[in-house]
Amino acid sequence: MLSMKNISKVYQTEKVRTHALRDFDLQVNEGEFIAVTGPSGSGKTTFLNIAGMLEPYTSGEYMLDDVNVGTLSDNQRADLRNQKIGFIFQGFNLIPDLNLYENVEVPLRYRGIKTAERKRRIEECLEKVGLGSRAKHLPQQLSGGQQQRVAIARALAGQPRFLLADEPTGNLDSLMARQVMELLEEINRDGATIVMVTHDPELARRAPRNIQVVDGQLADFTLYQSREKEII
Ligand code: ADP
Ligand code: ADP
Repeated sequence: MLSMKNISKVYQTEKVRTHALRDFDLQVNEGEFIAVTGPSGSGKTTFLNIAGMLEPYTSGEYMLDDVNVGTLSDNQRADLRNQKIGFIFQGFNLIPDLNLYENVEVPLRYRGIKTAERKRRIEECLEKVGLGSRAKHLPQQLSGGQQQRVAIARALAGQPRFLLADEPTGNLDSLMARQVMELLEEINRDGATIVMVTHDPELARRAPRNIQVVDGQLADFTLYQSREKEII
């Protein structure tokens, strides 16, 4: 579903030139759940932002479902992103003075989805993350783990096939982190492909495939684990 070949990304500021990614090659197949680890500054977020078409790359080829991302106009890229991709961030990024229902609604309004369909999706997604009864609450009335679940509901409401998560459990204690991970696993079983950056080795081990980014490159091993082995 996703194929990156020789992707490089150079950040050029007045004095500093940073090669955030170099000759980055990765194939992600439909239905995978991949954990991305690696040292701070190694290029993980840059990779995720390029995968989500939030940032341009400097060279190389990025294909998403047979579409060459590099050939798209800004509008085409935005449409493709809205159709296919959901994002989850470490800091939840909820709007503090909107209730949970309204937070989940924001991107749906932006996409021009009609009121009745918005309502259907919002209720379904809040239910899915276990917060169906809290629709009128404000984010500050929830725990961090619950806030992240709202952010997940917001991503799911767009019906993405591809979910990109940047340290989704980075601000959570270990119990809440595990609950968020379980929710992501369920979403993956429902069919979404997930790529998750994490610093938490325990969570990374739970993902069926681990990749490591070192110095802007994929480290030369890709670890596959079977879920059966994990259970033992
Ligand atoms: P990670 O997510 O693994 O911590 P990043 O992808 O955030 O790494 O960063 C990779 C490298 O690119 C780092 O050296 C970082 O300082 C640099 N970098 C990231 N974003 C920018 C930017 N907007 N401008 C300049 N340099 C950047
Ligand atoms: P310029 O250097 O003329 O500003 P860019 O190639 O940087 O042109 O792109 C202009 C805008 O379009 C940027 O703000 C960037 O965020 C966005 N953009 C360009 N290419 C991509 C891409 N492949 N993925 C995501 N956003 C892109």
